[in-house]
Amino acid sequence: MKYSFAERVNLMQSSAIREILKVTEQPEMISFAGGLPAPELFPLEEMREAFNHVLSSDASVLQYSTTEGYLPLREYIQQRMQDKGISTTPGNILITNGSQQALDLLAKLLINPGDVVLVEKPSYLGALQVFRSYQPQFMDIPTDDEGIQVAALEQAIKEHKPKFIYLTPTFKNPTGVTLSSERRRAVAKIVQENEVLLIEDDPYGELRFYGEPVPPIKSYDETGWVVYLSTFSKTIAPGLRLGWVVADEELMKKLVLAKQGTDLHTGTLVQRAAYYYLTNYNVSDHVQRICLEYGRRRDVMLKEMAECFPSSVSCTKPQGGMFLWVTLPEHLDSVKLLTRAIEEKVAYVPGAPFYSKDACFNTLRLNYSNSTPDKIKSGIRRLAKIF
Ligand code: PMP
Repeated sequence: MKYSFAERVNLMQSSAIREILKVTEQPEMISFAGGLPAPELFPLEEMREAFNHVLSSDASVLQYSTTEGYLPLREYIQQRMQDKGISTTPGNILITNGSQQALDLLAKLLINPGDVVLVEKPSYLGALQVFRSYQPQFMDIPTDDEGIQVAALEQAIKEHKPKFIYLTPTFKNPTGVTLSSERRRAVAKIVQENEVLLIEDDPYGELRFYGEPVPPIKSYDETGWVVYLSTFSKTIAPGLRLGWVVADEELMKKLVLAKQGTDLHTGTLVQRAAYYYLTNYNVSDHVQRICLEYGRRRDVMLKEMAECFPSSVSCTKPQGGMFLWVTLPEHLDSVKLLTRAIEEKVAYVPGAPFYSKDACFNTLRLNYSNSTPDKIKSGIRRLAKIF
């Protein structure tokens, strides 16, 4: 090797499936693999106007700005948080380059090599990847159809004194499962009593098409042991790269320091344009349209699966978000089957990379937000042939 990379670079594995998934760009391919929103629902016209408007104001939209983020945008987010039962101040909100950056900053601030990090089994692959590069020791906590199992979580906290817990409690990537209200309250109590930090990652919470909303775990937090992350990636567009963190003062100071070193601040222009969009258009109508369409696509996928898949194949039935999770009979390996699927011109993400260790190879993730109902029907029929 020509360069002498740092040890942690060896831990930054590109997953084997990434290569396979490159072929999903072929035009005839039906891809349930990516985590992409539906581009036809992006508010393209409105964003065009928003950028035009801010660019015609004054030169400060192209200037360096504060690391914390554009104050009016943070005030807007504060209000939005208030509506979800999270009481905070603009000073406790940091604008990030997507919530992925927030995950990286938190990992950078918290993980010493060998520190224990508790994650759900399975968990968001992008979080596992970024945490892994800081050399933690992962401990998996089992989940069921109501989310993480609280007794197992509490026991692991007491036994292993983790540095933090990482949860995606609402319409989780990859399973679509949502943590019940009772468990949320219990989790908030446990982290408070044990004085352990919980990272609550909530990119999908607003994409609910069925059932009643459940409050974020952060809304039960009275002592600052929960740090909350969200993003405009799923409600406006991921290309904006705009997310945010809600954290208490001590953590916020360090996050600002870490972000300063990483990229000084999130793009001034994009923050200003997003703020213009958020305050001049009916965003809740827009989100409702997304929910309506994703709900329709989810229904089509589930109906087609019920009709075509063998009865030995089961799946989650999410009330929101972008994904569902399929469990095949135990002897089937979704990594091996992916090659067959690609031949049939349909793609999915095998479950294995969503496990920090001891993967269940008979699982896989399907995305329904990025394919039209017709494509969903044909894609599921193609998969049925293979399963
Ligand atoms: N967390 C979870 C659970 C996600 O699914 C994603 C996007 N796939 C992210 C964080 C990152 O989102 P973004 O950086 O676009 O805000």
